Amino acid sequence: MERIKQYKVMFLTGTRADFGKMKTLMLKLQADDHFQVHIFVTGMHMLSKFGSTWDEVRKAGLPNIYRFINQNENDSMDQVLAKTVAGLSDYVKEMAPDMIVVHGDRVEALSGAIVGSLNNIRVSHIEGGEVSGTIDELIRHAVSKMSHIHFVSNKVAMTRLIQLGEAEESIHIIGSPDVDVMNSKNLPDMPEVKRYYNIRFSEYAILLFHPVTTEIKDIRRQVTELVDVVLASNQNFVVLYPNNDHGTEIILEAYERLRGAPRIAMYPSMRFEYFLTLMKNSLYIMGNSSSGIREAPHFGVPTINLGSRQNNRVSTESVLNAPITSEGIQNAMREVGRIPRVAKELFGNGNSAAAFHQALLNPSIWSTETQKYFIDRSHFKLNGKEN
Ligand code: UDP
Repeated sequence: MERIKQYKVMFLTGTRADFGKMKTLMLKLQADDHFQVHIFVTGMHMLSKFGSTWDEVRKAGLPNIYRFINQNENDSMDQVLAKTVAGLSDYVKEMAPDMIVVHGDRVEALSGAIVGSLNNIRVSHIEGGEVSGTIDELIRHAVSKMSHIHFVSNKVAMTRLIQLGEAEESIHIIGSPDVDVMNSKNLPDMPEVKRYYNIRFSEYAILLFHPVTTEIKDIRRQVTELVDVVLASNQNFVVLYPNNDHGTEIILEAYERLRGAPRIAMYPSMRFEYFLTLMKNSLYIMGNSSSGIREAPHFGVPTINLGSRQNNRVSTESVLNAPITSEGIQNAMREVGRIPRVAKELFGNGNSAAAFHQALLNPSIWSTETQKYFIDRSHFKLNGKEN
């Protein structure tokens, strides 16, 4: 019997944020003998302070997990990048993957794209072509430029990558993989979530607020006003820790005032499926997480989106934008109850893993050249005028 060629596909995961999105893709490939799945687990996953979420990767039943601690709490993001590049570079030389898969806009994803492209290993980038605020915006486009193959969530993202000079045939629209999980029939129910996390109240909002690295000087004021408003309200809140971007210490310090307050339940991180059920049943989500923009609308859950972190992202009627001031937040909290709960499919229909799998079964993917060419569209009309 002829042995099938097996491709080694290495996924890199650095946070709960990318793991939730790549998990279905990993599991899909793992179930097919054409692929050997390897997972490089690093970043926030490895930090006990942020919930040691590497354990989620293990619990998912995924094979060939390699854990790498890429930072200590004194490292700045550029140092984390350098350490991840160094560790990942040693690792890929040992296991020689045919493809590295990265997601989104974190320094870990950038490390994966750098190591892959500099070692002539094909890099696939999931969910490029998005726009946002904070340093993520710069990292995401840099990752796209260092990647050979793109899996994007919709046509607009594809158009943006074409604008960056990427070849149209290297871009595949697969939708946002988290929709696969959001549409899953296997999400835990609310009693299970309350039991697992020992949540005592049934009416609550969610608070999930990250630092914006380019606004570092203002973060202390922002989070102080936010915590003041939350404590003064008569609203129950489930609070999730921010990611570990520059400025996170300031937020965590301010959150110490929330600890033990009667209307607050606070956690470093929740399992993705549990978080989704929590969100689906919440009154609204407040903060600046992508989940308020990309996931809450899918469930028809209103969002109070604070500040600039999600700037320029797709917006819908269920998203209320507010400045990060006491008055801005209080006004939004008064108004949010008036937003109707209407579910909207913005980023695909939940078939991302199948579409990703199909694309990787196509032999042409495996002959993608590692030498890229900028597809020059400089002759295109700018502002309606021929160049
Ligand atoms: N998320 C999760 N558990 C949590 C908080 C968030 O699984 O406790 C998920 C969330 O649903 C989203 C992803 O993590 O898919 C990213 O959210 P986060 O706010 O951490 O990061 P962002 O994408 O805004 O950078």
